[in-house]
Amino acid sequence: MPELLSGKTALVLGVANKWSIAYSIASAFVREGASLVLTYQGERQRETVEELAADLKATRVLNCDVTKPDELEQLVSELKQLSPTIDAVVHSIAFANKDDLSRPFVETSRDGYLLAQEVSAYSLISVARALSPLMTAGGSLTTLTYLGSTRVVQNYNVMGVAKAALEASVRYLASDLGSSKIRVNAISAGPIKTASSRGIKDFSKVLDAVAAVAPLRRNTDPAEVADAAVFLASDLGRGVTGNVLFVDSGFQIVGIGL
Ligand code: NAP
Repeated sequence: MPELLSGKTALVLGVANKWSIAYSIASAFVREGASLVLTYQGERQRETVEELAADLKATRVLNCDVTKPDELEQLVSELKQLSPTIDAVVHSIAFANKDDLSRPFVETSRDGYLLAQEVSAYSLISVARALSPLMTAGGSLTTLTYLGSTRVVQNYNVMGVAKAALEASVRYLASDLGSSKIRVNAISAGPIKTASSRGIKDFSKVLDAVAAVAPLRRNTDPAEVADAAVFLASDLGRGVTGNVLFVDSGFQIVGIGL
């Protein structure tokens, strides 16, 4: 089979460890022949991400906290030296205070709300603004979202509201960047055990509830999300933009599951 991303350079933001959805995506991108650049957030994560990057044969590992404009600027200038163009960017980043993922939503603090929005939604806009000038041959920007954006999922709370803003941002960015042949999409993944999802109260109950009623009667494998990301980043996805693609064993179609 031909490699779907051969000749393309991909930047993947959001690998924290090998359970990260971004790690599965990065692995699939390498399998499909992409040249890979990873980022890490601050010194705390550097060693871990460098080790993972070595396993993946990534060409570079660069620092970037997406809430810091100077770090985004530095990332862009390092990327410019590394590669004439970036073809695919994956934004796999979110954060909310643990307290806001367990207590009633009505008790969300202003600071907690703004933090979740800044890291999990606004960062897609700043990443798009910073990196689109490097995507001179067009390309693809993909983010990760969750069903809690449109439905109430117990304890997802402030992150659901951030994902709603993220999905709306995908549509506005797709509209802005379409004339530069840059496509912007989100993958709505079913629940997957990762460092982030472990912060959500009763997350294992969500996994069980989904597996019981989803059409495929099982949870989502991160490799399935990764293959959808390959499709979106590849020329096979050339007509798809402004879209939310569900990779969730079909759970999103269920009304009442028994
Ligand atoms: P994860 O491994 O914890 O990934 C989250 C990543 O966000 C980490 O690499 C984290 O870095 C990074 N991050 C947080 N704040 C950042 C900042 N200011 N600058 C740069 N990076 C920052 O968890 P994950 O589940 O794979 O999450 C990836 C994406 O998938 C998120 O958008 C999440 O909402 C989405 N998603 C997850 C699920 C699920 O069930 N797991 C389902 C649907 C969608 P540090 O660890 O260094 O803080």
